[in-house]
This record gives sequence, C-alpha cells and structure tokens, in this order.
Amino acid sequence: MICDEYYLLNSIRPQTALTTWSSSMSDPVLARPTVVVIGGGYAGVNAAKALDDVADVVLVEPKDAFVHNVASLRALADPSWLPRIYLPYDGLLANGRVVRERAAKVEAGLVTLASGAEIAADYIVLATGSAYPFPAKSDVDGTDAAHAKVRAAHAALSAAQRVLLVGAGPVGIELAGEIKAAWPGKHVTLLDVADDVLGARFRQDLKDELRRQLTDLGVELLLASPLREAPPTEPGELQPFTVVTESGTEVAADIWFRCYGVAPVSDYLAGDLAAARQADGFVEVTPFLQVTGQDRVFAIGDVSTADHKMAGIAGRQAQLVAGNIRALITGDGELTSYQPSPPAIVVPIGPDGGSGQFPGSDDLASRERVAHAKGRDMMVDRFTELLGITAPADEAGAGRR
Ligand SMILES: Cc1cc2nc3c(=O)[nH]c(=O)nc-3n(C[C@H](O)[C@H](O)[C@H](O)COP(=O)(O)OP(=O)(O)OC[C@H]3O[C@@H](n4cnc5c(N)ncnc54)[C@H](O)[C@@H]3O)c2cc1C
Repeated sequence: MICDEYYLLNSIRPQTALTTWSSSMSDPVLARPTVVVIGGGYAGVNAAKALDDVADVVLVEPKDAFVHNVASLRALADPSWLPRIYLPYDGLLANGRVVRERAAKVEAGLVTLASGAEIAADYIVLATGSAYPFPAKSDVDGTDAAHAKVRAAHAALSAAQRVLLVGAGPVGIELAGEIKAAWPGKHVTLLDVADDVLGARFRQDLKDELRRQLTDLGVELLLASPLREAPPTEPGELQPFTVVTESGTEVAADIWFRCYGVAPVSDYLAGDLAAARQADGFVEVTPFLQVTGQDRVFAIGDVSTADHKMAGIAGRQAQLVAGNIRALITGDGELTSYQPSPPAIVVPIGPDGGSGQFPGSDDLASRERVAHAKGRDMMVDRFTELLGITAPADEAGAGRR
C-alpha cells in the first residue's frame, strides 16, 4: 500500500495542456481537452459544472432532468414537490453540452453510447451512482413518465390503511416519517432483519432517539425480524397481504415498499477499466480518485469505493476530482488526495422531526436543526441554483430558465 501510494504520488504529475494550431492563425493556441462525465447525478453535475470553464465538457445522462432524489420520499407523500426535484439540465453548463444518452461501453479514452455513437475523451469521470428501489430513486428516464409513476404510487399509498416498510435504515425511517406526517392515521410497520434502526456506523444515542420519535408517532417497529418469505405483491401495489416473520409474527398490510438495496451502476466498464470493477460492482479508486491503474479516468460518488454513499460526499469528491483534472490540464499545482468523511447524517422524520449526528459534536442534532438542514426545504434551493434555475418551478414548470 505504501509502495502504491508512493508510486502514484511520484508518477502522476500534472501534464501541460495540449497544444494545437488554430485554423485561422499561425500562433499555437491551447486546445480545450474533452472531459466526458458519465452520469448527471449529484457527483456528475458538480464535476461537469466545475470544469466547464477549462475543458470541453460532455455530460452523458439518459434522464432529461437532474433528479434530486434526496427529496423523493417527500414527493411520494406530497406530489406537489415533483416539479421542484426534477430539474432540467438546460442551465447547468455555459460552454459544455449534455448528451441525453446512456453510456453503453466505457474504455480509457473512448465512450460508446447506447446509440452506437462514440465520444473520444481526454479525461473521463465515472459518476453513474447507484440504483435503489423505487420510490427512493427513479428508474424512469423521462420526467413526465417519472412523475406519473410517483403520482400512481401516491394514489395507491393514499388508499392503503396499513403500510409495511422493509428496511429500517435511513430510507425506511424517513419514509415512515413522511407517511405519518401526511397521513397520521395510517398504520406503518417498519421491519428489519437487524436488531436496531439506521445501521452500524452511527451513534447508539442517535438510534435510540430515532426509535423514540418513530414510536411516539405510532410506527410499529419489528426489528431482528427476518421474513419467512417476501411479500407476494409488487412493492407499491395496493393489494392486501399477510407475511410472517421467522419468529412467527404475522404482519398484515395493504401495500409495501422495499427500503434497502444500494446497487452500484458500473456494468458498462470495458477494456482496462473492467479490471477496477469489484465483484460487488463498486469501482476501485486511488487516493486521487482515479480509477485504479488509470491516470485520466476518475470515479466519484456512489459508484466509487472511496467513501460512504451520500450526496454531500459525492459533491465533495466532484470538487476534488475537478481540481485534479484542472491541475492535469493546466500543469499548475499538484494532485490532491481524498480524505474519507467521518460518520455524519441527518435523518428527518417528517418536515419537523428527526435527528442526526455531526462530526465534532457530542450532541445529537435537534429537531429544529434537522428541519432547518433538510426536513423543511429538502435542500432544494442549492440544486436549483447549481442547475441554473432562477425561480422555483410550479406544477407547470413555470419559473425555469
Ligand atoms: C431517499 C434518499 C434520501 C437521501 N438523502 C440523502 C441526504 O439527505 N444527504 C446525503 O448526503 N445523501 C442522501 N442520499 C444519498 C444520495 O442520494 C446518493 O449518495 C447520491 O444519489 C449519489 O450521487 P451520485 O451522483 O453518485 O449518483 P446518482 O445520484 O445515483 O446519479 C447517477 C446518475 O448516473 C446516471 N447513469 C446511470 N447509468 C448511466 C449510464 N450508463 N450512462 C450515463 N448515465 C448513467 C443516472 O441516470 C443518474 O442520473 C439519499 C438517498 C436516498 C435514496
């Protein structure tokens, strides 16, 4: 490991920018290298925007809008949020372009799109993130179809009296809170195979606090309770059913949602890049966030092995990689290595509840702090600004630039 780091620190030096000849002049001019960013989620939009002034940026993304999935559970409970969390890419880049396509094959230096078109790249940033079961993440590329799917799930959920949420991590906790805030009378069961909520890396007093708030709202917690069989209906389908835990507890519900299962999206890697794809699908990176074995291909956000899977972390990695690519392009400055983040999380339970932990603080985040940081506005404003949208969109999309 020490040898690898030593090798990387000493072999990867910023390179001078490519020199070419302009067609109309006899003076050499600096060509702008092409940076292809694959995926326009939290990592990709930040990286693309940060490099727009120094490179020809091509953002490859099959969706027609950035999806602020941090607020997707709020939009399930209240679909009037939908226009605020599907943000068109039109205002993101001043110089670069967004290609609405899926990358089908990515090798060092060459991106092949699903249409068969090819894009030669001086640098590639892999930012294809992860899939997660609906409604937490969208599996539909078109905004209209995605909105219709959420509205249909909202209608089914509205009609259900008993809701089963399988998975008591941050998504399950947050969804339970959203349902109870919108429909206090519904019976919500939050079930997990683990014996506590949230996950191992977070503080015990935070888990205790979240359990307490959920119980106060009347959410039934079934922990350490593996199911004998998966529910017989599809997630989000309105259809009464009963499931049984291994200890024999029966759970009757009208609808259920799967609240676990981050799956990295990296199946397009080919050639030398395929070697960096681990068995679990995550892409192995160096301390500079280059794909292992590569100088000019980087991987950031949920798809990379660098850190935990969070939007804030994806944004921080994007800034670091943009700085490293800028250094390589301009020949100015050294590459910066990435430091993983200490555990931190904000878990809303409805617009006014929840808790969280921050590094360096002995105290848990208060309800007020959680509401201020996320629960109330779901962090929408910072992304409308990043996407170059000047005013909040209404249901018809008015206010978009
Ligand atoms: C309900 C919920 C709430 C959350 N709340 C928070 C929170 O409060 N704070 C926080 O920090 N994190 C939160 N997260 C985690 C956060 O959403 C993820 O860490 C984040 O989405 C990772 O960003 P990303 O850009 O790496 O990937 P993604 O957001 O998954 O984006 C990847 C993009 O790549 C595109 N793509 C995929 N394959 C291809 C391809 N072959 N070619 C081109 N494009 C492709 C996809 O269409 C997508 O747009 C939450 C997650 C969920 C589900």
